[in-house]
Amino acid sequence: MSRYTGPVCRLCRAEGTKLFLKGDRCYTERCAMAKRNSKPGQHGTRRTKTSEYGLRLREKQKLRRFYGLNESQFAQIYEKAAAMPGQTGHDFLQLLERRLDNVVYRLGLAVSRRQARELVRHGHFLVNGRKLDIPSAVLRAGDVVSVREKSRDVAVLKGNAEVAASRAVPAWLEINGEAMSGRVVTLPVREQIEVPVNEQLVVEFYAR
Ligand code: SF4
Repeated sequence: MSRYTGPVCRLCRAEGTKLFLKGDRCYTERCAMAKRNSKPGQHGTRRTKTSEYGLRLREKQKLRRFYGLNESQFAQIYEKAAAMPGQTGHDFLQLLERRLDNVVYRLGLAVSRRQARELVRHGHFLVNGRKLDIPSAVLRAGDVVSVREKSRDVAVLKGNAEVAASRAVPAWLEINGEAMSGRVVTLPVREQIEVPVNEQLVVEFYAR
């Protein structure tokens, strides 16, 4: 299935939670969820009863949309997590967080995951000193992500790095705003992964 290209605020309203898909705007009063927290469409304000399956499906959709992935990419990552020896829900979230596009976003070098994906694809980033333009690449503890020398004057990256310098990053990451680089200090544990989702319901969705 192809990636959704419509208005992203609609996705937040459909899921009833902020998915932070629009960069800085998500943190302001201009956020559509702040203005109009109802489901999109003519019958958006109607109350409907949701089945157990529906609850799990919604939770899966919420998580998938949060990371901006299509169905097959998302299911592939789930399969990988399910084959790992640990807790599937935890491993799944960890794999999602360790993606290069997500790390670039979490470091503040992009204002949204969508922008991070685009910047990575355009070859603006190095990982451990080597160009890596694959947004789905999974990083390991100790990996260093930096903006390429010749991309440092790109206005959007410069602007993002300036804002990033004044922002906190999750404890499992470290940012050096001046050097436009960051490091994966350690792999994230559940408490360090900010997602508005009950991952157990997502596991139950796939295990059905
Ligand atoms: Fe969602 Fe951001 Fe739009 Fe708010 S501004 S509805 S958080 S995408």
